Amino acid sequence: MSETKHVVIAGGTHGNERTGVQLIRRFRANPKELERDRFKATTLLANELAISENCRYLDQDLNRCFSSALLNGKAENREQSRAQEINRLFGPKGASSQTDWIIDLHTTTANMGVTLVVQQHDSLALDMALYVQQQMPDSVIFYEDNAADVDPFLCSIARHGFLIEVGPVAQGLLRWEIFEQTRMAVMHALDFIDLQIKGSVNLPSPREAEVYEFIKKLHLPLDENGEVRGMIHPDLQDKDYQQLSPGEPIFILDTGETLLFEYPETVHVAFVNEAAYYDQAHALSLMRKRNLTWNG
Ligand SMILES: [Zn+2]
Repeated sequence: MSETKHVVIAGGTHGNERTGVQLIRRFRANPKELERDRFKATTLLANELAISENCRYLDQDLNRCFSSALLNGKAENREQSRAQEINRLFGPKGASSQTDWIIDLHTTTANMGVTLVVQQHDSLALDMALYVQQQMPDSVIFYEDNAADVDPFLCSIARHGFLIEVGPVAQGLLRWEIFEQTRMAVMHALDFIDLQIKGSVNLPSPREAEVYEFIKKLHLPLDENGEVRGMIHPDLQDKDYQQLSPGEPIFILDTGETLLFEYPETVHVAFVNEAAYYDQAHALSLMRKRNLTWNG
């Protein structure tokens, strides 16, 4: 377990999420922050064109361009080209990737605090999330179950991927507490890699964590022409990770009429009123909270 690790911290995968961009600039000015005993992490500004335009993406969400199919097909737009270039520089996606870890930095306009996004099949990333959560007890583990092949995230081209999503912060905006929480999560993640190389990570065996598992996204209320005709109900605004039960207010129409949540079970909510999802009129994500155990 002593080989050098190739670790990349990525920011600006979404060009208007300034926290990650600013952190990468800070790390480039202070590279010692990315040094540990056994490795030095490097940095990547993923979508520089979108960063300079202060928009999420130009043609297509870059963080949806890293499935094997898109990486190996003909690039149809600027983000698909950039994804293929990043895959040449840091991949190739799959077991022979030259990169051990990519830690990708994101922000959300939703009130989600520090969210650690990992894939179900990646138990070492789950270990990292559990370790970071030990150091930052308010952080939340968000658990996706894409197969590696179809996983479209940038961090999926490394052997292990980890996505840090912090909010609430507006698009295009820097806020110190969000910046600092993100930086702390990166520091702990790098500490974890160093401990893991040294074989001295101290986690319970078997591992156990409370995680949130994605169920589905719900649309904003739409009229017959597909136009938005309402918004998140004020009782639900900012209630990320809290419970939502059938019969509780979910949307309020432009007319003031309240729509109630119709669903067979009580769920938890996340990405409530996420600004980045208005392009698809997505209002929120439904999540299931569960206790996960795994072997480290
Ligand atoms: Zn993002």
